[in-house]
Amino acid sequence: MTALNIGIVGGGVGGLAAAIALQKIGHRVTIFEQASRYGRVGADINLTPNAVKVCDGLGIGDALREKGAQPTHRISRTWDTGEETSRLEMAQAAVRNYQAPQITIHRADLLEALTGRLPDGVLTLEKRVATVGAQGNGAFVRFADGSQQGFDLAIGADGIHSVVRSALFGQDHPEFTGLVSFRATVARDKLAQLPNIDAFTKWWGPDPAIQIVTFPLNRGREQFIFATTAQDGWREESWTLPGDVHELRQIYKDFHPEARALLDACTEVTKSALYVREPMPRWSQGAITLLGDACHPMVPFMAQGACMALEDAVVLSRALDGVAAGGVAQALERYENTRKERTAKVQRGSRGNEWLKQGGNADWVYGYDAWQVPLAALGQA
Ligand code: FAD
Repeated sequence: MTALNIGIVGGGVGGLAAAIALQKIGHRVTIFEQASRYGRVGADINLTPNAVKVCDGLGIGDALREKGAQPTHRISRTWDTGEETSRLEMAQAAVRNYQAPQITIHRADLLEALTGRLPDGVLTLEKRVATVGAQGNGAFVRFADGSQQGFDLAIGADGIHSVVRSALFGQDHPEFTGLVSFRATVARDKLAQLPNIDAFTKWWGPDPAIQIVTFPLNRGREQFIFATTAQDGWREESWTLPGDVHELRQIYKDFHPEARALLDACTEVTKSALYVREPMPRWSQGAITLLGDACHPMVPFMAQGACMALEDAVVLSRALDGVAAGGVAQALERYENTRKERTAKVQRGSRGNEWLKQGGNADWVYGYDAWQVPLAALGQA
């Protein structure tokens, strides 16, 4: 087989995972990441069993189990009475049912585990991509510094504001949901008195858009808190902008005392507007494709953004296994046809914001195995 020369734009969760999977099957990969280093930016990443199976196959499962936490249950509770409306056993039950546990982990720890599996020379930091385009049967990647490089295949793994997506399909027009989200982590010893703190718990508000989600991180030494509410006047879609903890407490002041105790413990919080986008009809053009948030950004109500990016990475690598330059376009067709229906269902399910509110079956999400799922036949959309 002739190894493909592959350029990946974006060294986030999906780009790093794709690089590991692709170089494992013999392709030559270079990642271009705009950041100058991986700091402890962001907070939680929720890896449900479908994503942990991906990580096990990439060889980072032990590192995640070492650094992350494994929620005991997934619980839905009512905002004022505290009544439990659904309870799904996770931990060992998830291993029995889905061959992997749920792991909640700081984004930085996941990125560290992924970068630790990359051979030297694969990752180029501080290299911002300006655009991509077709070049013969392959693709070029043009950088913000004016330089340019050619590849057999270019992959846009550059997140919600993807320049690769814009180059292929034009500027997107996300719709503001009218909702904002707050994210915070707090030291667990501040919450020692609270019950159910080892579970993934969602407090459903008087309207489903008003909710608080909490779960352990960092082997249970920290607690992650995520809260959403309707609010106009804040339109920034960002992972890093600071919010106001007093505002946070005020919004949820009528919630159950156990939910309020979480917010009382917060000292810092980030705030981001939530946007929705329709599933895209196409992800690829010629020898350029997309993965992760670049092609299916979703609101966080099913906590599947990173999980879907990880699944994409594996399915893409399987579609490219044994493929030489002449077969790239067909392989990309198989990749997107294998993935689009599932990611569209999760995008829409996230938007619907009813996931496991009153129980329900999680098997179709958690039971998926990206290493085993049959690849779509050519021409099978
Ligand atoms: P991302 O993980 O967003 O990765 C995209 C990568 O591409 C980033 O590293 C970005 O710097 C890089 N990039 C973008 N444009 C360019 C360019 N032009 N040239 C080169 N590189 C480029 N999710 C959560 O659930 N909780 C969090 O707390 C959280 N924090 C986050 C913090 C940051 C800084 C980022 C970028 C993402 C965060 N996410 C968070 C999002 C989450 O990681 C993704 O939704 C998910 O993992 C999908 O992964 P992805 O690889 O598709 O995109």
